[in-house]
Amino acid sequence: MTRITYPQVERSVAVIGGGPAGLMAAEVVSAAGRPVILYERMGTPGRKLLMAGRGGLNLTHSEPLEPFLRRYGAASAWLRPILEAFPPQALVAWAEGLGQPTFVGSSGRVFPRALKASPLLRAWLARLAARDVRLRTRHDWRGWSAAGALVFRVDGQEVEVARPAATVLALGGASWPRLGSTGDWTAILGQCGVAVTPLGPANCGVDVAWSPAFRGRFAGQPLKPAAFSFAGRTIRGEAVVTGYGLEGGAVYALSAALREAIAETGGAVLEIDLSPDLPADRLIAKLDRPSRGQSRSTFLRKAISLSPVAINLLREAHGGGLADDPAGLARQIKAVPVALTGLQPLERAISTAGGVALAAVDDGLGLRNVPDVFVAGEMLDWEAPTGGYLLQATLAAGVAAATAELARLDLTA
Ligand SMILES: Cc1cc2nc3c(=O)[nH]c(=O)nc-3n(C[C@H](O)[C@H](O)[C@H](O)COP(=O)(O)OP(=O)(O)OC[C@H]3O[C@@H](n4cnc5c(N)ncnc54)[C@H](O)[C@@H]3O)c2cc1C
Repeated sequence: MTRITYPQVERSVAVIGGGPAGLMAAEVVSAAGRPVILYERMGTPGRKLLMAGRGGLNLTHSEPLEPFLRRYGAASAWLRPILEAFPPQALVAWAEGLGQPTFVGSSGRVFPRALKASPLLRAWLARLAARDVRLRTRHDWRGWSAAGALVFRVDGQEVEVARPAATVLALGGASWPRLGSTGDWTAILGQCGVAVTPLGPANCGVDVAWSPAFRGRFAGQPLKPAAFSFAGRTIRGEAVVTGYGLEGGAVYALSAALREAIAETGGAVLEIDLSPDLPADRLIAKLDRPSRGQSRSTFLRKAISLSPVAINLLREAHGGGLADDPAGLARQIKAVPVALTGLQPLERAISTAGGVALAAVDDGLGLRNVPDVFVAGEMLDWEAPTGGYLLQATLAAGVAAATAELARLDLTA
């Protein structure tokens, strides 16, 4: 085993994981004048952030804080002080401070004008380097030695780094593992007695056993306009038919409830309203007119502008047995039952549910049973829909962990 002692290591803070949570923790700690060493297992930091940038980089959301907080469901009370300390306006100011002006999109989502992550990440890394944050890439953290040193695998060798003053773990979830976050930290922390809720897919696609004909003809086509309902919640939005099922924001928003239902019963039925803009009575009125010898498909296309994919979904779900009377047909159009057979796996999800149990950390995100170790970002057990909520909570948690850590270090200085 090689042992490395970096200068000032006993004063320094180790941040492990170079995603947005770790970079933010490094920023807050270094701004306070503490030496920071940032360890990352990949060749470069921020790979998932760059991937998020491919979709325009939805940084946060412009809605007021109360509805914003409700997006975090069961974790919202726990996240409240963290998000109040670093709310969406603070995130926008931070991005603008990095030379990335933002705008609010039509759905209230906030994006950088550049609509990608690379300029932001470049400016951020330059600022951290200017503050003397030392970046150690290709350092794969494996845990602690018996004496409490950090153990990394570097170039196939085990390397021990003397214990720093404090450590922030920001190791991410386990979606898109090729970008660096694999969730293998669950075993390391589990061995230290840290409670970890099993990781699962969040904001993920769903599996549907489409008929070969439907799959062959419509994979890749969007279903819109549409509204998707499950367990009493309706999401107006979009989904795309894929070879394996459905993908898209509206389905992602229901994925937490779908995940639970599928885990319990092995399946779930998603209800799709293919005519969400027309209330039932107006839909019936539009359907209650002579079809003048048109085929059913032509009639539905002309009378209520249903797309070919929507018409065929209607047939697929109702087994071809479409009602003849306008009221019955309207009911079928407004509640197309799509039987889900499963969820897409965690590797293909946008984000991760589960993680370090909230009860395992104190108010400052310090692990209760591993001293001087803090946790930030997606590796904590919270989940949220897409819409900017993921990066907002990730970055806010980075701020919270670093702030609490600095306060503790000041007390013990
Ligand atoms: C396709 C896609 C699009 C997305 N789009 C958006 C979006 O528009 N808006 C939004 O809010 N969110 C989006 N997200 C989610 C967002 O990117 C994540 O929530 C966020 O990156 C989580 O940040 P993190 O720092 O907690 O973890 P990560 O970004 O996963 O970073 C963790 C880092 O830790 C490193 N690491 C892991 N284990 C070790 C180890 N043992 N040793 C050393 N290093 C290690 C990893 O290599 C990685 O660099 C998207 C995600 C995906 C996959």
